[in-house]
Amino acid sequence: MPLYLVQNDITTMKTDAIVNAANESLLGGGGVDGAIHRAAGPDLLKECRGLGGCKTGQAKITKGYRLNAKYVIHTVGPVWRGGGHGEQKLLVSAYRSSLQLAFENRCSTVAFPLISSGVYGYPKDEALKIAVDTIADFLCLHDMTVYLVIFDRAAYTMDKILFADIAAYLADHYVAEQPVMHTNGQCQAGDFVCAPALEQISQPAVCAAACEGLEESLKHLDDTFTQMLLRKIEQSGMTDAQCYKKANIDRKLFSKIRSNIYYQPSKSTAMAFAVALQLPIEEARKMLEKAGFAFSHASKFDMIVEYFITRKNYNIFEINEALFAFDQNLLGG
Ligand code: ADP
Repeated sequence: MPLYLVQNDITTMKTDAIVNAANESLLGGGGVDGAIHRAAGPDLLKECRGLGGCKTGQAKITKGYRLNAKYVIHTVGPVWRGGGHGEQKLLVSAYRSSLQLAFENRCSTVAFPLISSGVYGYPKDEALKIAVDTIADFLCLHDMTVYLVIFDRAAYTMDKILFADIAAYLADHYVAEQPVMHTNGQCQAGDFVCAPALEQISQPAVCAAACEGLEESLKHLDDTFTQMLLRKIEQSGMTDAQCYKKANIDRKLFSKIRSNIYYQPSKSTAMAFAVALQLPIEEARKMLEKAGFAFSHASKFDMIVEYFITRKNYNIFEINEALFAFDQNLLGG
């Protein structure tokens, strides 16, 4: 099931559980911990007092009280001390323990903050990578929808080298607005090129011929998107579940697509499957065409996905990190 990156205040999330980046005492603190306690009300602290604290890397569960979430899962991430003190292992463990606890309590939706990346000082790009990788691993084996909630978009950072490389790719390939050349040869702000006017071709004779041709070609319609998708899944040797999980698509949406050969997916869904199936760029274009879309050099979203496909990097979560960093919609879901 999918992992979503969202910008939000975690205390407002309407999920079965939200995760709190707490300290070992579980008696409240600053940052997200303080915000969760304020929003949940004093009964949360009362329940926490009875829990006897929580070790770093582990997790404990309470009710959500005044929150929209039914549960709060309190976990303790490591304090960053330079990276040589087992921080990574402990951070992975904080995510895993929380996910396990959510699973045992039958939560189907869970929201996480970026644990340890605030007062505890874990470098944000590394904290993000660990969060995404650990949650993605868990989702391969469990049906759950997870939201990674980024509070402060300005402070959000992905791998700096990758970010710079994508920015350079966009600079080379992205075609923003096309300015109109006026007769005096100058452009004006706010001008855009219009599509050329359609020529008049509506004489009845031409129309009848066209209709006949249309009927004929409808008899020889190509594969639909669904048919191409199912064929490609079969050729890939993946199971359906492996494919929709890799595409960050939830099971219900996949079933809808599977049961309707004329299903019209969104662009993001079509691209997500092209990525999951590891299609080379030409095949990816064909798959998109089946859904009625094309890769456009006037869309940052398209360009970023193209950047990854042409580099044979088919990790959907990495692609989504990049899309999020460039303020674009995400793949799948
Ligand atoms: P830690 O002590 O584990 O570093 P912090 O609460 O200081 O915990 O920060 C963890 C992350 O939570 C930081 O990235 C911070 O920006 C974020 N954060 C703070 N308040 C909220 C909130 N209300 N919703 C979601 N994330 C938040």
